[in-house]
Amino acid sequence: MRYRQSLIPTLRQDPAEAEVVSHRLLVRAGMIRQVARGIYDFLPLGLRAVRKVEAIVREEMNRAGAQEILMPAICPAELWQESGRWEHYGKELLRIKDRHERDFCFGPTHEEIVTDIVRRELHSYRDLPLNLYQIQTKFRDEVRPRFGLMRGREFIMKDAYSFHADFADCQREYQNMFATYQRIFDRCGLLYRPVEADTGAIGGTLSHEFQVLADSGEDAIVSCDKCDYAANVEKAELARSPESDVQSPKSHATAPLRKVHTPEQRTIDEVATFLGEPRERLVKTLLYVTDTGALVAVLIRGDHELSEAKLKNVLSCQGVALADEAAVVEATGAPLGFAGPLGVKASLIGDWALRGTHGLVCGANERDYHLTGLDQERDLSLLRFADLRQARAGDACPRCQGGVFTAHRGIEVGQTFYLGTKYSTALNATYLDAQGQQHPMEMGCYGIGITRTVAAAIEQHHDGNGIIWPAPLAPVDVYIVPVNWNDAAIRQTAEELYTKLGGAGLEVLLDDRDERPGVKFKDADLLGIPLRVTIGTKTLARGMVELKGRTETQATEIALAEVVATVARAHKGAASA
Ligand SMILES: [Zn+2]
Repeated sequence: MRYRQSLIPTLRQDPAEAEVVSHRLLVRAGMIRQVARGIYDFLPLGLRAVRKVEAIVREEMNRAGAQEILMPAICPAELWQESGRWEHYGKELLRIKDRHERDFCFGPTHEEIVTDIVRRELHSYRDLPLNLYQIQTKFRDEVRPRFGLMRGREFIMKDAYSFHADFADCQREYQNMFATYQRIFDRCGLLYRPVEADTGAIGGTLSHEFQVLADSGEDAIVSCDKCDYAANVEKAELARSPESDVQSPKSHATAPLRKVHTPEQRTIDEVATFLGEPRERLVKTLLYVTDTGALVAVLIRGDHELSEAKLKNVLSCQGVALADEAAVVEATGAPLGFAGPLGVKASLIGDWALRGTHGLVCGANERDYHLTGLDQERDLSLLRFADLRQARAGDACPRCQGGVFTAHRGIEVGQTFYLGTKYSTALNATYLDAQGQQHPMEMGCYGIGITRTVAAAIEQHHDGNGIIWPAPLAPVDVYIVPVNWNDAAIRQTAEELYTKLGGAGLEVLLDDRDERPGVKFKDADLLGIPLRVTIGTKTLARGMVELKGRTETQATEIALAEVVATVARAHKGAASA
């Protein structure tokens, strides 16, 4: 690529609308432009990075035995009505009508479409298994599209769907895809963790999110410092014995239950400070309403956070929401901030960390009063316990001996998921076994956010000067900076190197602009190209040029005759790092 013939509209200023680093740098580096909220143009260098991710994904999916297809972006409502998702999907589904007033949607995922292909074409156990994937533009009508490519409305995704005769074969393919995803993100040069994801009622370990670690990540995750276990804090299992928790207040002295005056002290922090008690000796009583209208009082230690995902699973319901003020007043007979477990008109459930504890503080269900000396075994002997809280750094790992959680932020770039027969049953995708018996197919699905992976790579790899592409995702490999384009000798050398490096299989951007060297260096850093070759007057007089890696502070002089071999070697090293 020659800079002057390319569209690389770099900016000196940060775009006002950009909230995260990847968005800011992609816009400043002239790689994307916003067209509408959450909808972007990919300019040449941005598209090159996208294509790099796609190529890695495609190669590894093909190697794993999956076959690429392309399904329509515009999907007929009928198939979505068959699965029931037309009604249930909500407003993220962009519904449209054609000129005949027929309903369609812009596909946010393609379970229905792919299951329709398979039910029409496959009928026998001999046809199975099958794994079909596509790389395609998707649309999800996010309420608040933000963070550039991290949470756009239109985005490019790789979605794969596998079909099997039985669960065992589906499990086998799940492991195959899991290993494939590890190869993909390894090859992308990203630091990531596969974390166990919520499987709802199914349970087990057949759902993983692939999280790229970055401080700006939206997801809070924990990982064990000893074994491979990692999970979203909302979902991470916790060791269930209170003895494993050094902060458990079990050792506190037993005391009689006492009502104490706590005027206007409502929050955990207010009450803890007012009574001079540590937060872990307080009990939070949270009132929740389930999707079936049941009212539940959830007890959590004052220093812990409730996981609504765990609560939902424990209660076996589709959704939970905090009760509104009126419901709290009715159930407790007190204003907000004084709810407690004794006498509350709701069913009770407590987090494991509260089992066997005493000397606790809770709300008294009376304005301006709390109770002290609460004893679980004496006062709440019938309390049902479950793992309800979010995990945090320092918690003991449930899978190994002596492992402890560390906390990270992550960006979800991929997910593997066991679907079971949900779609095959709804859409009647069945096969005949060897005995002629009909069964619904077992299914798995496997997604990778292609454009999101590009953004995540930047969130993980950047500095104050710009992007630092992992070499495998870089839009080009080498940036040639002739410091003075009007110098005939420099220009001639630049042209020669451009041709030779290109001939050696490298992708090269030649900065042939009539700009000051400072401008070119700034742009080279901003664009994040892994290698920079600088041709200057003095070095060239000695038959040398300068080579510098994007993260190196010092350039190295190399003889002109050595440039191609040296750069090719450096590129190979960076690509396999
Ligand atoms: Zn562990």
